[in-house]
Amino acid sequence: MAENSSITICLMAVLFMTRLASTLGILSPRLQALDFARNLHVEPDAIKSVSSDYGNIVHENPAAVVYPSSVEDITSLIKFSYNNYTPLTVAARGHGHSVGGQAMASNGVVVDMMSLRHHKNGTGITVSKSPSLGFYADVGGEQLWIDVLHSTIEHGFAPVSWTDYLYLSAGGTLSNAGISGTTFRYGPQISNVYEMDVVTGKGELVTCSSRSNSELFYAVLGGLGQFGIITRARIALEPAPKRVKWVRMLYSDFSAFTRDQELLISINGRKQKNALDYLEGSLLMAQGPPNNWRSSFFPSSDIPKIMSLVTQHAIIYCLEAAKYYDDETRHTVDKDLQQLFKGLSFVDGFMFEKDVSYVDFLNRVRSGEEKLHSQGLWDVPHPWLNLFLPKSRILDFNKGVFHDLVLKRNITTGVVLFYPMNRKKWDDKMSAVIPDEDIFYTVGFLHSSGFDDWQAYDQQNKDILKFCDQAGIKIKQYLPLYNSNKEWISHFGSKWRTFRERKAQFDPKMMLSPGQRIFNDI
Ligand code: FAD
Repeated sequence: MAENSSITICLMAVLFMTRLASTLGILSPRLQALDFARNLHVEPDAIKSVSSDYGNIVHENPAAVVYPSSVEDITSLIKFSYNNYTPLTVAARGHGHSVGGQAMASNGVVVDMMSLRHHKNGTGITVSKSPSLGFYADVGGEQLWIDVLHSTIEHGFAPVSWTDYLYLSAGGTLSNAGISGTTFRYGPQISNVYEMDVVTGKGELVTCSSRSNSELFYAVLGGLGQFGIITRARIALEPAPKRVKWVRMLYSDFSAFTRDQELLISINGRKQKNALDYLEGSLLMAQGPPNNWRSSFFPSSDIPKIMSLVTQHAIIYCLEAAKYYDDETRHTVDKDLQQLFKGLSFVDGFMFEKDVSYVDFLNRVRSGEEKLHSQGLWDVPHPWLNLFLPKSRILDFNKGVFHDLVLKRNITTGVVLFYPMNRKKWDDKMSAVIPDEDIFYTVGFLHSSGFDDWQAYDQQNKDILKFCDQAGIKIKQYLPLYNSNKEWISHFGSKWRTFRERKAQFDPKMMLSPGQRIFNDI
């Protein structure tokens, strides 16, 4: 407590002295070095704006918020804190779409990265070409993926690995992994970065890549914000397709569903022309509608037919696939898809198809978001659980979790994702943690709840984790949420030692991203 108030007093003193000095026009060299102080805010509105997140369950007040106008503001803040007798904790906040307070800094300083978007005069995303890399984009850590899409497509190019939802910051997704149906083929977003600029926990701005300062490069990718603040990432680009064939098939049998998913992701070479570009899967249950905020895919005329299948089987598994095309492949795409889908075991008559523009496909979640916003339902609590599951145990998971727990409890009405990925598309040197099998599945319980019943979902999440633990299913949490050091050590497993050593090297005073509660457990 005494420590917290000394931090607050120290920040207030910096704020006061800077304002006074600039009013009098006498900025001393020592205060000049504190570039960030001009953009430091302690007003209640500023504090409130960063003390919640998309999860709307954890709420933590920082002592101050910095709205950086340049990368120097970030380096000077971290240097100031590093050299302070009582270092401040510092959390970069991307777009605040975490669900467990990961971008918060209780009594520390939150750096609102979105502020940088207003200070770059259109230079936050640039497209270039080099003989060795081909086309690439230099993207500020604060930039949203939707803006990366719009800027790169103007040049006829686009990144290849995406998240389902694009209003997330580059720094925020690269601190986790950045996954979606594109991951089986192109790897997670962290596998598509050539180089980064990072402000370390000592306040040093370092350019890193797999060749230079590689330890920092691998630490930061999937590093949960623990080693530095990403201020620029160089992202791989490919020619952007124009349109997308988007298909969903329904299965009543879990084994057939996963067998077909695995068959389809087995064709996964980046240059393999007959491969799908996207594969996901989800659950349909009578307790929730087939369409939801993640995408309104099914036309209303098909809903009765789908619901009658769901009622008959209790759970229906929906395989979702997409193949991109352009003018050159327009005439062959249907034939290629027919070939790929030959022999699949979905329920006869339950294949649905759409043809949409590439941008509409990638931005498919936005319309659902806008609808929820208009109904005041976007900012409700979100007790989410995201897991990676080894392929060898998916049958046990289907029975023990989907049937015996989720169906019986009958509270999950929203999105439940379930789809496989290839381990070889991930780089083990990075901080991200995945199961130890060639194929693993991601399962996402993306719950929205009321303000007074989120605990029931939270309890279900805990029971799912308990079931996995007792059944010996070696899951790894994605977007992990733990409260104790012991749990983190178990999460990182054989990677813990390296993770800890990298922390000591790049953030020795343990200032960065305290909201992850890895080195500052509660
Ligand atoms: P924040 O929540 O602001 O920050 C997350 C963490 O990253 C914090 O620890 C923060 O300190 C750190 N951080 C932020 N910026 C930086 C930076 N520049 N440098 C270093 N550290 C930084 N994830 C997927 O992989 N695939 C999906 O399809 C997907 N869909 C989603 C859909 C929705 C509606 C939501 C709410 C989330 C989704 N996510 C998905 C999860 C999302 O990728 C993560 O929560 C991500 O961290 C959010 O990005 P953000 O910019 O909001 O980060």
